[in-house]
Amino acid sequence: MKKITILGSTGSIGTSVLSVIQKNLNLFKVIALVANTNITTMLKQCELFSPDWVAMRDKKSANILRKKLKKRKIKTQVLSGEKDICKLASLEGTDQVISAIVGMAGLLPTLSAIYAGKTILLANKESLITCGYLFMKAVAFSGAKIFPIDSEHNAIFQVLPLEIQKNLGIAPLKKNGVKYILLTGSGGPFYNFSASELSNVTPLQACSHPNWVMGRKISVDSATMMNKGLEYAEARWLFNALESEIKILIHPESIIHSMVQYYDGTLLAQLSVPDIRIAISYVMSWPNRVHSGASLLNFSKINHLSFFEPDFAQFPCLKLAIDSFSQGQAAMTTLNAANEIAVSAFLDSKISFTKIYEVNIEILMSSCFSEPNSIEDVLEIDRKARILAKNKVSSLVF
Ligand code: NDP
Repeated sequence: MKKITILGSTGSIGTSVLSVIQKNLNLFKVIALVANTNITTMLKQCELFSPDWVAMRDKKSANILRKKLKKRKIKTQVLSGEKDICKLASLEGTDQVISAIVGMAGLLPTLSAIYAGKTILLANKESLITCGYLFMKAVAFSGAKIFPIDSEHNAIFQVLPLEIQKNLGIAPLKKNGVKYILLTGSGGPFYNFSASELSNVTPLQACSHPNWVMGRKISVDSATMMNKGLEYAEARWLFNALESEIKILIHPESIIHSMVQYYDGTLLAQLSVPDIRIAISYVMSWPNRVHSGASLLNFSKINHLSFFEPDFAQFPCLKLAIDSFSQGQAAMTTLNAANEIAVSAFLDSKISFTKIYEVNIEILMSSCFSEPNSIEDVLEIDRKARILAKNKVSSLVF
């Protein structure tokens, strides 16, 4: 039985992981769960899965949860704060750590799991793209293993040769017959919107993705297509890919989840209904397959599959992320921080949808950070960029 720790268990990815576990109780056992403030969901998860440990980032929430568990005679130990979360991420005896905290908050817990040499099933792309080389170096040094949960990267992983699967981030694509990767994306809920329509969209509209059910931050990132840009950076690191080895393709139906073009002319794609449990169950059981709970693709009901080049003018955040990656790590870390602040301001109805790009470009243009040589440097860039972005948001609000 594999012992599982879930960082971000109350979120969209976390609950999907638990749904896969529930279908395979003979294969997986939950050891530790981590969240921030969502006591109600965490309590239910403790009742259902009896983990040994829980950590809430928020201390007040941890205290309330502890009392509620005691009242129900549930023996789960409750910890709190970031240090304790990092302890659970590196817990001895855990076989897999699911990294599914949203945003930069996932960085230190994910690194903690890496330093402990764990097998990490990575959903939290922000931790990889803000540290890039430092993240991959830590993986190589500690002997940790990374498996992608993000549906596109998971799809690519599924159709890559075993040699690359076993040496992710190290094995060269070309030597293994891969010409390039086709990273697909639906285009999000506003793919056909005009510029004037885009400036009036609401957080509720932005969070209503046509094909996927996801957390609020990634839903907004999908709507601006920043998510595809972050995924581009994620793919460059995960698959050790050169600029010429990744192409982005819009595929509104979300049936193909990405493809790999081989030198011999073969194109391999992973197809399925858009259900993240397929990606999750694959990496949890790799190289085997288990029941995910997802329904099967019915080809007779698919009328057509369409593909388009991305429109950088309509979705400037996508181009910004690609350019930031080329510019260097400091730019990528800065962009991620600015974007988290801008998205949060949009979700709180403080700024309009199109101002997300305005915040991002301004912080990138006005800041000039040196390339980070350590995680401390990364955290410092992140901290300063957040201050700049908050100031910019304030200037837009008033
Ligand atoms: P959600 O917003 O649904 O969930 C976020 C989770 O993180 C919650 O459990 C939340 O706890 C927890 N959390 C938030 N802040 C902290 C903190 N400071 N310390 C500890 N825990 C915290 O996000 P998603 O599940 O959608 O996304 C998670 C990650 O996975 C993101 O990086 C996203 O980009 C990535 N991803 C998501 C996909 C999806 O389908 N949803 C697909 C591919 C990647 P609480 O509930 O208490 O606030």
